[in-house]
Amino acid sequence: MSTKEQLHAFFYPETVAVIGASASPGKVGHTIVSNMIGAGYKGKLFPVNPKATEIEGLKVVNDIADLPRGLDLAVVSVPRDYVIPSLEALGEIGAKSAIVITAGFKEVGKEGYDVEQGIIKVCEKHGMALLGPNCLGMMNTAVGVNASFAAGQPNPGSIAFFSQSGALCVAILDWALGENIGFSKFVSLGNKALLSEAEMLDYLNKDDDTKVILGYIENVEHGDSFLKAARKTCLNKPVIMIKSGTTAAGAKAASSHTGAIAGSDQTYTAAFHQSGVIRVGDVASLFNLAQAFSNQPLPKGPNLAVVTNSGGPGILTADTADRSSLTMAALSQKTIQKLQEFLPSYAAFYNPVDIIGDADAERYRRTLDVVAEDPMVHSVLAMLTPTAAVEIEETAEAVIRTARKCGKPVFACFMGKRRIAKARRMLMEAGIPCYAFPEPAVRSIEAMYEFYLWKNRPEARYAEVKGDVDRAMKVIKAHEKRRELEIVEFEAQEVLKAYGLPTPKTVLARSSDEAVAAAEEFGYPVVLKIASPHISHKSDVGGVKVNLQNATEVMETFKSITARAQRMRQEAYIAGCLVQEMAPPGVKEVIIGFKRDEQFGPMLMFGLGGIYVEIMKDISFKLAPLSRQDAFEIVREIKSYMLLKGIKGEQPVNFEALEEIIMTMSQLALDLPQVWEAEFNPVLVNHERAIVADVRMTIRLKD
Ligand code: ADP
Ligand code: MG
Repeated sequence: MSTKEQLHAFFYPETVAVIGASASPGKVGHTIVSNMIGAGYKGKLFPVNPKATEIEGLKVVNDIADLPRGLDLAVVSVPRDYVIPSLEALGEIGAKSAIVITAGFKEVGKEGYDVEQGIIKVCEKHGMALLGPNCLGMMNTAVGVNASFAAGQPNPGSIAFFSQSGALCVAILDWALGENIGFSKFVSLGNKALLSEAEMLDYLNKDDDTKVILGYIENVEHGDSFLKAARKTCLNKPVIMIKSGTTAAGAKAASSHTGAIAGSDQTYTAAFHQSGVIRVGDVASLFNLAQAFSNQPLPKGPNLAVVTNSGGPGILTADTADRSSLTMAALSQKTIQKLQEFLPSYAAFYNPVDIIGDADAERYRRTLDVVAEDPMVHSVLAMLTPTAAVEIEETAEAVIRTARKCGKPVFACFMGKRRIAKARRMLMEAGIPCYAFPEPAVRSIEAMYEFYLWKNRPEARYAEVKGDVDRAMKVIKAHEKRRELEIVEFEAQEVLKAYGLPTPKTVLARSSDEAVAAAEEFGYPVVLKIASPHISHKSDVGGVKVNLQNATEVMETFKSITARAQRMRQEAYIAGCLVQEMAPPGVKEVIIGFKRDEQFGPMLMFGLGGIYVEIMKDISFKLAPLSRQDAFEIVREIKSYMLLKGIKGEQPVNFEALEEIIMTMSQLALDLPQVWEAEFNPVLVNHERAIVADVRMTIRLKD
């Protein structure tokens, strides 16, 4: 049976058995049965218990073997040691899917982990879909399924929700009931032994009852399938997620800047961003966005128009919009003229349109209609401060009317709580997201606009980068053989050459005479760098000297830095010095690196280089493979982008050259899985060209 068929049986079961059903109210095995009945389930429900005869008016089945063959869904809530035998028996009768509610598995340690592996084996052997273990269960409001032990029945709605935390499920369910928010499907993933977020995304993508997918996850275990499922789903409907556990725990000590800076949180941010998943930081935003996405069309541009009956809140909104990717729409002359025809002369006709504290619902209605009609306006925010004169509910009606006919997204920000409560309910019921303050309103509109941009971004194009993989592999194999994890500059140079990366002319000189000969050939000034397989951070031992002007300087420097390095690192083998062509003055230093993530693979990073990189942390991230568009974006996403663009008449750096190096780095990361981390630091760039002036790689030995 395909996963799709299994999941259909799971979400739309015609037969459901509760294994471990109980006659005592308050017990989990009882709540599940009564929840199924309470949800109005129309299919066949079988409580299973070896001793009982009747539960909630239903005849009890004493043995799993007596259940109908090909049972659609079994909800298992038995003590841990009985879980595997129960699943085995379910497999024997050809059950299609199971939910294991029981806890005490992976989450409690090694012993539980082993039992969980056993569960997986049984389910795989019998081709049974499995939710959990250690979960709350699942609900599908469309067919009255509440296969959970949650308190309360969710209302039907168009939002699907899945969560790795059962406790959060309970809280959200209760909160949503209070807020009158309904769900299509509601799934507690638990330990994700088999079914995880990737399968949920694939299924919910095709689910006609679901318009918006919300998720809470703590980790992703199969980065590949997650990315694939997320990318596909987001093209179809919005996926909004919270990812918790974003602290640095788990970040290992790393030898490179990239490793030190790129924690797993950045990886998730990059993974979500590149697959179109909208990431939010808190539960309130999750539902704010869900409201907006499930009811309003996407804004087709950044221009926001605000209609308000008070100055301060209008300005606050404009300020917030300024800090977002939205812009305050410049209203057309025609629109302003139309407004002047009926608004009092002391109104503000420019965006935000302030129709003054004495505005009645009629003034709102006419203003909103005129503003929404302006072709330069992509979204409208109707703001109301509950002054004494304002007609609150009538204004809500006016907003609803405009929203219905204008075809553009309309949002409301009715400030306050008590006096606007009724209007807020009216708006929400009519599908107009209503916020108490401007910030969440602007954030929701911004998220929708960004999703619009993501959906309409140009198709990804990938550059043809071809490296000489065999040549690069020789270097790696030599290190593997010597069990050396660091590939330092003078050896990694060979890898740069294998990929045709632009480098300054470089020669390894074994003696001061060789160094002078090389320098004479390059022409002055030159750079000398210590060359030792055991010294990876060369400057730390005074091993880099730039701007050497003549033979004497080269001669002396060679002697002094080799001697000094040997003194500081007595165990190190010193091969000599690299003589390197010096970059012209005025070049800028950037860093291009990657770090491999266990789940998501290589993650590229770009930032301003040099000694400040770890302090400034002004770095952007993307997962490989990078498309041309990704490379274009990654260099423009850092805060110091303006510095690269040039200030005070400076010429912009050669961005294409940087993008080329980034694309090559991405290819290198994919070609050479043995390389765990790599960084070019610095890449020196000016308006003409970019060169890789230092490289360091870390490999991982497979043991
Ligand atoms: P390490 O990072 O091992 O200390 P680098 O090779 O990165 O050594 O050199 C340290 C610094 O020296 C660089 O950050 C850069 O400022 C400067 N530098 C290195 N190579 C060159 C070069 N070819 N031209 C100009 N400056 C250079
Ligand atoms: Mg360096």
